[in-house]
Amino acid sequence: MARYTHAKCKLCRREGERLYLRGARCHSVKCAIARRPHPPGAQSFRRKRLSDYGVQLREKQKAKRIYGLLERQFRRLYHLASRRKGSTGDNLMSLLEGRIDNVVFLGGFAQSRAQARQLVKHGHIMANGRKITIPSFSVRPEMAIAPVAKEKSRKLINSNLEVTKGEGVPPWLACDPKKAEIRVLKLPAVDEASFPIQSSLIVELLAK
Ligand code: ZN
Repeated sequence: MARYTHAKCKLCRREGERLYLRGARCHSVKCAIARRPHPPGAQSFRRKRLSDYGVQLREKQKAKRIYGLLERQFRRLYHLASRRKGSTGDNLMSLLEGRIDNVVFLGGFAQSRAQARQLVKHGHIMANGRKITIPSFSVRPEMAIAPVAKEKSRKLINSNLEVTKGEGVPPWLACDPKKAEIRVLKLPAVDEASFPIQSSLIVELLAK
């Protein structure tokens, strides 16, 4: 599966805010946005007001970057969201938030979404006792997420839990660091997204 492999904090500069794509690094002065708080590119300081399209585009790009998706994967998710009942924007956010890689990150098993995605792809994660290697896998309420029964997997996740301490977990998840288990209590409500994204702007853009 394709993913973005260039300088991650350049994306913080592009979006004008810290995206925490590299976990702790973005909290520190090492994030490129601290030293160069303007978008990448030679003429970027000239840019002034964004058009409506520009505002919508930036919101979509930000969402893609936070969740680590490229354009095609993101559009596929949008179409799925638009075919479901209810608001497309809300559906899109709950599809993004409910990805198992996102849950592994939010639950404290990983220090960034990129790391979480790798834990899943490399076969370290199981849901309800079954190994899941697809980062886009959707979690369901009552699901228990844990490392697979391998020494290496448990060690990897425990070392991340020592850093994250399973703290700051959103209310729709519960993390038990001692057991190394994340429980999905329910699916996230619209206002419980882990990053403020105005999904209505994205829908306006993609519905054109
Ligand atoms: Zn950064």
